[in-house]
Amino acid sequence: MKLRIVTLAAVALSALSLAACGQKEGSADKAGEAGVLNLYTARHYDADQKLYDLFAQKTGIDVKRIEGKPDELIARMKAEGANSPADVFIAADAGALWRAQDAGLFQAADSDRLNQTIPANLRAPDGQWFGFSRRARVVAYDPAKVKPEEIDDYAKLATPRFKGKLCVRSGDNVYNLSLVGALIEAWGPERAQQWVEGVVANLARPPEGGDRDQIRAVAAGVCEVALTNSYYFIRMASGDDAGDRQIAQKLTLGFPSLDGQGSHVNISGGGLAAHAPNRENAVKFLEFLASPEAQAIVTQSNFEFPAVADAAPAEAVAPYAGFKANPMSVARYGVLQAQAQSMISAAGWR
Ligand code: FE
Repeated sequence: MKLRIVTLAAVALSALSLAACGQKEGSADKAGEAGVLNLYTARHYDADQKLYDLFAQKTGIDVKRIEGKPDELIARMKAEGANSPADVFIAADAGALWRAQDAGLFQAADSDRLNQTIPANLRAPDGQWFGFSRRARVVAYDPAKVKPEEIDDYAKLATPRFKGKLCVRSGDNVYNLSLVGALIEAWGPERAQQWVEGVVANLARPPEGGDRDQIRAVAAGVCEVALTNSYYFIRMASGDDAGDRQIAQKLTLGFPSLDGQGSHVNISGGGLAAHAPNRENAVKFLEFLASPEAQAIVTQSNFEFPAVADAAPAEAVAPYAGFKANPMSVARYGVLQAQAQSMISAAGWR
């Protein structure tokens, strides 16, 4: 009993001091305001500003944005607790959204519109977060060295065919954690562990850099095939950088399948913050993100695929949009994240 009182007092004290800190640090305001939405976002694309402008134009609600890395924003929201001004939290990767959910930072949005528009496998079953765009974790390969049928299944990437020929970023990156989570879900832990070990055995070099660096390494002849999120390749192929365009033109984006069920899909998404001071505005914003015109901007801003069935993909994305997407629930990746991490560590995939 005594312990409990001490704990409660400590919690109250730290909440007070954090509230004071929060006021100094952020521009977001805890007090609910009619025309304001406080957005904590791990997306950092210039074109996202178009989204906020359109939302303000349609609703008169101003988006006050705090940007950061997903784990930084999660830590901040945890520290702010019930005093957090956050209304909506947005992150890229279902695994990152799950970390926020696991920390109790979301509440269910209870929106029929979102439940009807966003496919069930692209949102949390209890309405705590929703996917607003899709990305596939697939491969970029050198078509002069690799035949399409050699990379048409994730299992093949871990076979001796690719010994010393595979590039991939570090194992504890959330994109890889989510992919291995999907493999555990599909195959069970034993076979997934063997795959992870096979990938480590096939590495052309110790993991370094992000997905684009792996694509560049294929073009440079360091490896023959690289795991990458689809938008990195599509951005290189169609963006402003002439060097990147040249690199992408030499390579092919291939879509491996998982047991014939389609390629591993992840999301960018967001949810209603647990202590949102502007709850109504927050739900309006989430519903807006699922609208066809917002979907168009979301995919244009980062070369991702729309989440909503009848939304049109951006022009650069359209040639790839017909890929077969695995129907697995993206919510499973988070549930299996710890298991994926221990497999990756055990195999020495640093
Ligand atoms: Fe990314």
